[in-house]
Amino acid sequence: MNEYDTELVRSLLKSSGFTFTTDKETADVVLLNTCAIRENAHTKVYGHLARLHPLKRQRNLVVGVLGCMAQNLKQDLIEAKSIVDVLVGPDGYRRLPELITHAIESQEQSLARKEVAVDLSEYETYDDILPDRPDGLNGWIAVMRGCDNFCTFCVVPYTRGRERSRDPEGILREAEHLAAHGYKQITLLGQNVNSYRAENWDFARLITAVADVPGIERVRFTSPHPKDFPPTLLDAVADHPKICKHIHLPLQSGNDRILTMMDRTYTRNEYLQLVDDIRRRRSDIVLTTDIICGFCTETEDEFLDTVRVVDEVGYHMGYVFKYSPRKNTIAGRKYPDDIPDEVKTDRLNRLVDRLKAISLQHNLDTVGQTVPVLVEGDAKKSSAQWMGKTDGGITVVWEKDAAPLQPGTLVPITVTRVTATTLFGHPVAP
Ligand code: SAM
Ligand code: SF4
Repeated sequence: MNEYDTELVRSLLKSSGFTFTTDKETADVVLLNTCAIRENAHTKVYGHLARLHPLKRQRNLVVGVLGCMAQNLKQDLIEAKSIVDVLVGPDGYRRLPELITHAIESQEQSLARKEVAVDLSEYETYDDILPDRPDGLNGWIAVMRGCDNFCTFCVVPYTRGRERSRDPEGILREAEHLAAHGYKQITLLGQNVNSYRAENWDFARLITAVADVPGIERVRFTSPHPKDFPPTLLDAVADHPKICKHIHLPLQSGNDRILTMMDRTYTRNEYLQLVDDIRRRRSDIVLTTDIICGFCTETEDEFLDTVRVVDEVGYHMGYVFKYSPRKNTIAGRKYPDDIPDEVKTDRLNRLVDRLKAISLQHNLDTVGQTVPVLVEGDAKKSSAQWMGKTDGGITVVWEKDAAPLQPGTLVPITVTRVTATTLFGHPVAP
């Protein structure tokens, strides 16, 4: 979502005449688009700001902090000693050209003024702004902004405001624009995509319409909330050839007491029932998840309930996070952050090891099979190899000299060996 917002900001600024450089040594303005979801995201931004200090001392540099951290920490970031000149939350990007211009003028006149736009909006969806995307294969489209769920650990409702859906017409126009510019894959984004609503459109109808756009080969989405995963969406994923057979289904915890404290509004059994429905509908749908470990008061036995759900579901992949108390959230205000960091780390490592072992087993099961892979580009480790993704989002790597190819093509690859994260293979001889 932040990458998408950066593309919106680039578009807004370019249409106001600003040009971009990646060299902060020569830039007149440096903008940091920030996340507030965990404390380490904040720490990174403070690190960047500290590194900008010497540049700020040397010349008239304008420093801006954008996004969720700007929204969450307002006062702290613009206190007198801070080097931040411009502070803009996720709903204020339209004002950015004007605020940067004011900040440049203030610097020229040696005025110590701060430019701030941190009001949240109930309506802003940036529907008319075409993001300035890097050329490539995968285009993000945010179909909604904000979130109304108020899970007790989460800062998103406070930093991104109330949930609002974009008009389907604007989303489809953007999808057609992407297809016309050679993009092959679209990822639809929202904090809770299955609550997408626009007149008589729901998310199942929307994703089907996007997948029907000629030229688009694959459509992905993230994230659905397990509390209200409609059968129509499962049908769309199971039946539409261009909707990837992959569902990212955040679990957070496998223990009912902790799920209640998190206010996730589903129980462990309801979650497992949904997994069962998905599996019975199509057993090849890849499931991935998000888990928080060391949430307030979580006991060892309650943590083990989460490990048991991980084993039972057999996720292909999972992101595990140590609980990080956030300012303004319900848990941050009401519950003690009482799990010592070393216990959180130990639980995180045990879950990561378990998830890795399960991924490895899934990947081993594919050895000898031929899987369709969308070629994305050079492999990370070697430009002599291609990297692509299976429909389920698993990375595949193979030697380039095996056959001449272009990024964006779908090729059948026979898997010969695997690790927990990657499949290696070769293209099927034509
Ligand atoms: N909307 C998605 C959902 O309902 O699952 C989650 C979006 S959130 C941006 C991404 C992930 O960050 C969450 O699924 C959760 O696992 C993690 N997360 C959110 N708040 C957190 C916190 N305070 N500490 C640790 N992890 C957190
Ligand atoms: Fe945060 Fe996701 Fe819960 Fe919304 S649904 S409050 S984004 S965790």
